[in-house]
Amino acid sequence: MIQLTKPDYKARYREFLKTPFWVGLSREKTRRQPRCQRCGVGQRLQCHHKFYRQRWEDTQLGDLEVLCDGCHGKEHGVLTLKIPFSPSKRKKRLRKWREKQERKRFTVRGRYHV
Ligand SMILES: [Zn+2]
Ligand SMILES: [Zn+2]
Repeated sequence: MIQLTKPDYKARYREFLKTPFWVGLSREKTRRQPRCQRCGVGQRLQCHHKFYRQRWEDTQLGDLEVLCDGCHGKEHGVLTLKIPFSPSKRKKRLRKWREKQERKRFTVRGRYHV
């Protein structure tokens, strides 16, 4: 596993998303699976990595899950949910929840440590 600092990793991943390899693969995936696998919506579909191989270039169709942008956002902790708390409480909870998710992600993948 290559050790990368966080900004590097994100920038390189964004570059990867523009490669013909990824564009072709994700198109093929959404062609075969034209609906969100969580909620069944058929629009604004994106491909989500269920897991990563050592190199992004080794990604295969079976590694991916088709999600609509809403479900994809939730998967990555970008909250679009309506939470029935007061705004200040909600902010606090959100922050705590995000911190927890971040910690989890960083330790699970073992690339960076917080
Ligand atoms: Zn969905
Ligand atoms: Zn994803």
